[in-house]
Amino acid sequence: MKGTTHIIGGLAAGVMTTQLFDVTAQQPIVFYSSALIGAILPDICHPKSMLGRRLPLISKSIHRVFGHRAITHSLLFIIGLAWLLNQWSFGFAADLQAGILAGVISHIILDAMTPRGVKLLYPLQTSFQFPLNRYTGSKLGETIVGLSLMLVIIALGLMSF
Ligand SMILES: [Zn+2]
Repeated sequence: MKGTTHIIGGLAAGVMTTQLFDVTAQQPIVFYSSALIGAILPDICHPKSMLGRRLPLISKSIHRVFGHRAITHSLLFIIGLAWLLNQWSFGFAADLQAGILAGVISHIILDAMTPRGVKLLYPLQTSFQFPLNRYTGSKLGETIVGLSLMLVIIALGLMSF
């Protein structure tokens, strides 16, 4: 999926998990910003991605060692990142941790909707993709997914008032 779809997906994941993480009682701006960052973080493995273009040395190194949609799109990455983020213990760390993880998970789910899929069980090379990925992986399919996620954001946003 494209970066813009991932950003919409990250925001949708943030809105969908707000209740789960009790964000309204904490710091929503930190949570949603973190979800947006988390939503583009897995593509650090691709030098031409939004994040890869800003951090070319890190991106090219990860790409060279692991390839695209491999370790940064896996359960191993989610678990490792959760462990790393759990080491933080400053004031708004919980919002940051929850937001980043929600964004990363949304990214991996969206990429699993494409024909290429994700190597969820990396280092195993098996690629996982959702059924009907042939449709959601197309340009039209991606637009429909993005618009659907925007509707979810609007609907859940309206329900929260
Ligand atoms: Zn990706």
